[in-house]
Amino acid sequence: MPRSFVVSLHDVSPHTCAACATMLRDLAAWGVARTSLLVVADHHRRGHFLADPDFCRWLAECARAGHELVVHGYYHRRERRPGESTRDRFVTRIYTADEGEFYDLPRAAAAELLARALDDFARFRREYAPELTAPGGFIAPAWLLGDEARAAVIAAGFGYTTTLRAVEDLARGRSHSSQSLVYSPRNAWRRVVSLGWNALLFRRLAANPLMRLGVHPPDLQHAALWRQIGRLTRRAVEDRTPCTYAEWVAAS
Ligand SMILES: [Zn+2]
Repeated sequence: MPRSFVVSLHDVSPHTCAACATMLRDLAAWGVARTSLLVVADHHRRGHFLADPDFCRWLAECARAGHELVVHGYYHRRERRPGESTRDRFVTRIYTADEGEFYDLPRAAAAELLARALDDFARFRREYAPELTAPGGFIAPAWLLGDEARAAVIAAGFGYTTTLRAVEDLARGRSHSSQSLVYSPRNAWRRVVSLGWNALLFRRLAANPLMRLGVHPPDLQHAALWRQIGRLTRRAVEDRTPCTYAEWVAAS
C-alpha cells in the first residue's frame, strides 16, 4: 500500500458551491486533484441539490475529473429533542452546533434518509453523469454516527464510512486507524488551537500509511487556516499519493 493522502471536502451543496470550487482549484494547485466530496442532499433544508442544474453540472464535472461523491447525511441538521442528557447536549451543541444529524437517529429513520439519498444520487447520475457508479461511501455529519444509524448504513450497502479517528471498511469489517486533520473555524480561540493541534497531528501521522485532511467551506474565510492547509498539503504530497477514500479502501 503506497503512502496515501486523502483530502475530503465536507458540506458540498449549492449553498457552498462557490467556496468549494475555489478550494478545489487551490488544492489542485497544491498537488491534490482528486478528493472525496461530501455532498449534502438538502443542506439545512435550504434547497435540494437536484433543484439546481448549474450545481449538478458542476458536480458531474468534478466527478468526471476524478473526485469521488460521498453521501454526507441528508439535511446536515439534528433537531434538538426534549430530555437530552448533558453528554448529548455537549456533543450535539458545543461540539457540532446541531449538525450531528446521524448521532442518535433511530435505525428506521436513518434507513429512510439513506434510501432517499441513494435515489437522489441515482437520479443525478441518470440526468447528468450516466457513466458514474453509485456512491460507495457514507460519512455522517460531524463524523457522528450512532449505532442504530451505523446498522442502517451497512444495510443500505455502503462499502465504507469514516469517523474522526478511523476509516471503516464496512464490506470487509476492517478499521484503519488514522486521525483526520480538521479545523474548527467557529471562533478565534478555536482557530488558534486548530493551528497548533493540526501542526502537531501532521507530525504524529508521519509514519501512518494514510494521512487524512478534512476541510470545510468556512476554512477558506480564515487566511491563517487556509495558508496552513496549503502548507501541510504541499508537504504531504511530497511523499504521499493523493487519492479518494473509495480508492484507498479498494486498495488497502
Ligand atoms: Zn459536514
